[in-house]
Amino acid sequence: MSIETGGAERRNHLTVAEARAAIFERIAPVAGWERVAVRSALGRVLAEDVVAPCNVPAHDNSAMDGYAVRAADLAADGETALTVVGTAYAGHPFSGVVGVGQAVRIMTGAAIPRDADTIVVQEVTHREEQRVFIPPGQRKGQNLRRAGEDLALGGVALAAGTLCGPAELGLIASLGIAEVAVRRRLRVAFFSTGDEIASIGRPLAPGEVYDSNRYTLFGALSRLGCEVLDMGVIADQPAALEAAFRDASQAADVIITSGGVSVGEADFIREMMTRMGEVAFWKLAIKPGRPMAFGRVGNAFLFGLPGNPVAVLVTYYQFVRDALLGMMGVSPLPSVQLFEVPCADSIRKQAGRREFMRGRLAERDGRLVVGLAGAQGSGVLRSMSEANCFIVLPEDNAGVQTGDMVLVQPFDGLV
Ligand code: AMP
Ligand code: MG
Repeated sequence: MSIETGGAERRNHLTVAEARAAIFERIAPVAGWERVAVRSALGRVLAEDVVAPCNVPAHDNSAMDGYAVRAADLAADGETALTVVGTAYAGHPFSGVVGVGQAVRIMTGAAIPRDADTIVVQEVTHREEQRVFIPPGQRKGQNLRRAGEDLALGGVALAAGTLCGPAELGLIASLGIAEVAVRRRLRVAFFSTGDEIASIGRPLAPGEVYDSNRYTLFGALSRLGCEVLDMGVIADQPAALEAAFRDASQAADVIITSGGVSVGEADFIREMMTRMGEVAFWKLAIKPGRPMAFGRVGNAFLFGLPGNPVAVLVTYYQFVRDALLGMMGVSPLPSVQLFEVPCADSIRKQAGRREFMRGRLAERDGRLVVGLAGAQGSGVLRSMSEANCFIVLPEDNAGVQTGDMVLVQPFDGLV
């Protein structure tokens, strides 16, 4: 499954779009599914269409507080007096019929009484005891909500592949459905690599750094609703890595590693992938995150992320997250959401690769502007935490002057 490479060195580096396409081409949704109660469907992906077993709303009802009338009774050029014969409340319908010259007082959500066809809003009427006066200019059928207007009986209310959020839970409940079929959770194993990486809970020896990537990944994967399998820190030793890959590929659908994917002497991930599986690509025309390997080990997909903590988050958000959503069964696959705002800083940039800066979107004089969020080194997690968006500088961008429009990708929504 190798991608055609060759030619100039630059051509070996896939663009973000090419890499996403190469990933999306290979992945498939997990096959397993289960039936869960509506509340447990939050963050899960529907395994089959939800078909409406009834109309929503179930009956024609009033969209306003007012009077249910017969349009044919209303004079076109003057006021009409009608006799009020009853009241319809939401949940307590008027059981009679609206006869010629009659009206029924009606509340929002109440079923339309028989033979009424029009709702006149209360504010335009006036009342004298049992008589109500309707001004001219009413339109037959106005202010009615028709049965099945939201969802028609037998129609697809939610398609398979929908990721259930709050609105979907409510929609399912509005149909009276108590359980839905969702895809099983994705199992994702992850570990950090590097002889210098120390787990928290003990003092650092000289030259060591605490492992932050496993915590970043834990957070990202947990929020996405994956079943996570934290495999700890693995030393830069081929035998240890091989054992970790073997275990992970048997236990999980996806393996995510950090570190060891560049061309340093202790970078074994790619070698291991080639030996135990396949490498689809590992060079990207992006910064940070240039070395990122994607491929397979056994039956599991592998994302070999760079070691730098910021590069981990950049590559996770640009590639891994949407791939995981695809494997979770989300359809259609998400696309990258970018929008343009003026930039408050100047930024140096080389054409030829896509760069991701950490940015802060803020409102200034009623307009959104973006600025750089602190130091941009790829190890600086603090600026990642201070940022609320990526500033995305595409391949052809060769630098930004203060006031130029730039693309941003807000973190909000990037769970
Ligand atoms: P590597 O990709 O293995 O060459 O690592 C690149 C840089 O990221 C090095 O400075 C590593 O020390 C650092 N790094 C690698 N893994 C982690 C980790 N899990 N947590 C924090 N820093 C890391
Ligand atoms: Mg390393």
